[in-house]
Amino acid sequence: MQSSSSQIALVTGANKGIGLEIVGTLARKGMRVLLGARNAKLGGAAAAQLKEEGLDVQFIELDLGRPETLRDAAAWIEKHAGKLDVLVNNAGITSTGDGSPAKADIDAVRRVFETNFFGTLAVTQAMLPLVRKSEAGRIVNVSSGLGSITLNGDPAWEFAGVKFLGYNASKAALNMLTVQLAAELRDTPIKVNSADPRFTATDLNQHRGYQTIEQGAAEAIRLALLPEDGPTGGFFNSSGANPW
Ligand code: NAP
Repeated sequence: MQSSSSQIALVTGANKGIGLEIVGTLARKGMRVLLGARNAKLGGAAAAQLKEEGLDVQFIELDLGRPETLRDAAAWIEKHAGKLDVLVNNAGITSTGDGSPAKADIDAVRRVFETNFFGTLAVTQAMLPLVRKSEAGRIVNVSSGLGSITLNGDPAWEFAGVKFLGYNASKAALNMLTVQLAAELRDTPIKVNSADPRFTATDLNQHRGYQTIEQGAAEAIRLALLPEDGPTGGFFNSSGANPW
């Protein structure tokens, strides 16, 4: 998809980390980008910094746990743009108390699902009518290799020891959203894919990740800008397809 200033994107959880990088890159490609964040001060400051570069970036309040912010954001986009070309569902959390099936605190598992799955589903449902109004809508769900059921079952996998039931299962559920929504939209120009950033140094992992934020954002950006003959209903990292 060719990006142009008439195109508009929304990235959730974009005041920092991978989301912020996605916003900056899409804006540098000429898009108008809405920087979604739940904290107005942090979101406003992040958007102001990109605006100083001359980029068309604007903060929009969006808290996955507060449905009224999703409704208000959708109404604002409808009024000011009339459509949404790109939705990047990037916001996500981990939680203390999450852990292996035998040990995980069930409230922690619920907390993680509430944001990573239910919150993302709510954003998607709120924005879908606007994405349908785009000539070539793109929805990217920022998933994780930890959401791969196949890899979770492989004892030789590099991250075999990382068994956070809540986080990993929430990303597997997010992948199901990708597959089902892509199937539901197969007769439209909209493409829906999951991006796995891979282990990236951000606040989410106390900057232990071995990739830069730029590297971590690259696959979501590619999927946000897919051409007409690009894939839909897939799960990709920067090296290619991920096993489900
Ligand atoms: P991050 O720096 O912690 O950023 C997460 C973002 O999500 C923050 O802006 C955070 O806002 C926002 N967020 C959390 N809950 C929210 C809510 N209820 N409503 C709106 N925004 C919310 O982490 P990151 O590494 O960039 O993560 C981005 C995405 O990549 C996540 O979905 C994560 O699961 C995924 N991922 C990351 C890695 C990695 O190695 N870093 C690997 C695989 C997948 P606040 O600042 O207000 O908390």
